[in-house]
Amino acid sequence: MSTIVYLNGEFMPLEEAKISPIDRGFLFADGIYEVSAVLDGKMIENQPHMARLDRSLGEIGMDVPWSMDEIADIMQQVADKNGIVEGMVYLQITRGADWDKVRDFGFPKDPKPTMFMFGQHKNLSADPAAEKGIRVITIPEIRWERRDIKSVALLAQTLGKQAAKDAGVDDAWMVEDGLVTEGTSNSAFIITENDELIARPLTNEILPGITRIAVLKLAEEMQLKVVEGKFDPEQAYKAKEAFSTSASALVAPVVEIDGHRIGDGKPGVYTKRLRELYLEEARKSIA
Ligand code: PLP
Repeated sequence: MSTIVYLNGEFMPLEEAKISPIDRGFLFADGIYEVSAVLDGKMIENQPHMARLDRSLGEIGMDVPWSMDEIADIMQQVADKNGIVEGMVYLQITRGADWDKVRDFGFPKDPKPTMFMFGQHKNLSADPAAEKGIRVITIPEIRWERRDIKSVALLAQTLGKQAAKDAGVDDAWMVEDGLVTEGTSNSAFIITENDELIARPLTNEILPGITRIAVLKLAEEMQLKVVEGKFDPEQAYKAKEAFSTSASALVAPVVEIDGHRIGDGKPGVYTKRLRELYLEEARKSIA
């Protein structure tokens, strides 16, 4: 079955989707995106994703002609039309093409945003990477200062992911002023020997992960002490457990950082439990 995507009001096969080369998303990375998970054929936690989208759009001064409910509804349709039982729906909105000035840094007078969505199948509940755990390296943080906006300007992250690949590992955690900010496409956490879960506080320095919020709530319910604080790679090497969270991998156990084995080198007990609870809660919320 060919992939059906959504572009500016229409569903169509991927091969037929065309965007102008002067689209500001292409010329300036002038756009925002979201990725929401699909479980049992339904979008999970899509309300907070839509709230973050709305906020991101506001932060870059972009008005769109669609309500967040309409957008959420189209995302579900993308999942349905592609028969996605488990996976993701990707959504991107850019400030569109400026036919008047072609490439002017200032916003177009009458912007016509481009909205594009596609779906992807992925085994989320029995992800082999989650069973084995992932290995990460640390790399310097080189991104801009508004990482709280889910901008499509992801060059730093693509370089980071490639650096990880070149090093023969799965991902990279970025480090600024000696402290871990987050993963290239996920929030980063450690659990210390004292059973404290350390999560970097929400500021402009990291993306406010939607999965992060749910996982921190579950951790509190599990009697783990949640500390919103910063940690450095040395602390991470000595951690009892480490993991990352994202809509596209849910809770991913990290079993190695810069060649240091975390715990016994297998996904940790707390992390596994958080992952199970997250899946249970997500399923309950769509049942
Ligand atoms: N941090 C960054 C830099 C990300 O790109 C992502 C997801 O794409 C996350 C964190 C996790 O966010 P979420 O849990 O909303 O997927």
